[in-house]
Amino acid sequence: MRAIRMTAPGVLEQVEAPTPTAGPGEVLLRVGAVGACHSDLHILDAPAGLFPVPMTLGHEIAGTVDQLGPGVTGWSAGDRVAVYGIIGCGRCRACLRGAENQCRVVPVGGIGLSRDGGLAEHVVVPASRLLHVGEMDLAQAAPLTDAGLTPYHAVELARDRLRPGTSCVVIGIGGLGHMAVQVLVATTAVRIIAVDTSVAALDLASRLGAHDVVQAGPDSVDRIRALVGPPPDGADVVLDFVGADPTLTTARQVVATGGQVLLVGLAGGTLPVRPVADEPPTVPLETAVEVPFWGTRAELQEVIALARSGQLQADVQTFPLAEAPEAYELLRRGEIHGRAVIVP
Ligand code: NAD
Ligand code: ZN
Ligand code: ZN
Repeated sequence: MRAIRMTAPGVLEQVEAPTPTAGPGEVLLRVGAVGACHSDLHILDAPAGLFPVPMTLGHEIAGTVDQLGPGVTGWSAGDRVAVYGIIGCGRCRACLRGAENQCRVVPVGGIGLSRDGGLAEHVVVPASRLLHVGEMDLAQAAPLTDAGLTPYHAVELARDRLRPGTSCVVIGIGGLGHMAVQVLVATTAVRIIAVDTSVAALDLASRLGAHDVVQAGPDSVDRIRALVGPPPDGADVVLDFVGADPTLTTARQVVATGGQVLLVGLAGGTLPVRPVADEPPTVPLETAVEVPFWGTRAELQEVIALARSGQLQADVQTFPLAEAPEAYELLRRGEIHGRAVIVP
């Protein structure tokens, strides 16, 4: 079968690979669609040794069940499914509570992260990772598994502060951020302020229901403060889907006293937390800082339900498998709007 593999750190290429077979408890899927996540670029850019090579990338997968491995029951060939990408140990304190995204044994274990992912004609996954998606277009289903799930989980973590009448700043309206705006519209009554460097991304945010948009630049802190109030007031919640030094500086300067910053983006910035008396504090007092990772299987089921009810829809740009490397180049240059989805 054809597969798009990281064959060495930084090298992504199409190869001919043997079609895998489903082992005990596993299922062979015919891949229907795979989202191209910015994290794949971080994986490609990571130093040697952090991720296995060669490895097929792709952790946002939807497809149809092809063959069942030994011992698998409850699924049939032809079932249309989305794949929950995390594979926790299943036995630690976190996994037993359903928080496989906090697994204490395999902290970033998953499909397309520590074993072959979905950028191929077929992929083998544990049957326990499958969720039904019904008749939904698979190119719509794939982005739900990360671009939808990760913001949904972040919003869940901020739920206590996202009361009617509060404000939420969303930084980075790309694959994750444009889904975050929709999750906020569908599940809260907060004022949404979208921030991005790209005008096209801000147009998308407005179309999806953001109340205000601010183009990121030297004056973005002042412009956001004009909307949410100056310190000690500010945004009740800031969702940062970039995570670079400039966006984290914006986040800590616009968050309200007692607010919450959720650092989702992995661009490598630092958020200093220093509540001292003799210097200005780096974050307002009583600020909660969280570093969410992906989400839970139960949350993914809710995300799929939100999509099936018509309240969550990825803005999708599709590419055939052979063009996956080009899609990632466009993503790197900031030229994808919404989510790029590869259709093998
Ligand atoms: P993306 O490339 O689709 O979107 C990024 C958006 O940020 C783009 O619209 C871009 O214009 C905007 N942007 C870039 N620099 C900016 C700046 N300085 N100020 C304002 N906006 C800026 O990426 P994505 O796939 O949505 O992923 C976003 C980030 O989240 C990546 O770092 C990815 O690795 C990370 N991620 C984290 C998790 C997690 O569980 N923590 C899960 C998935 C992705
Ligand atoms: Zn991802
Ligand atoms: Zn575990």
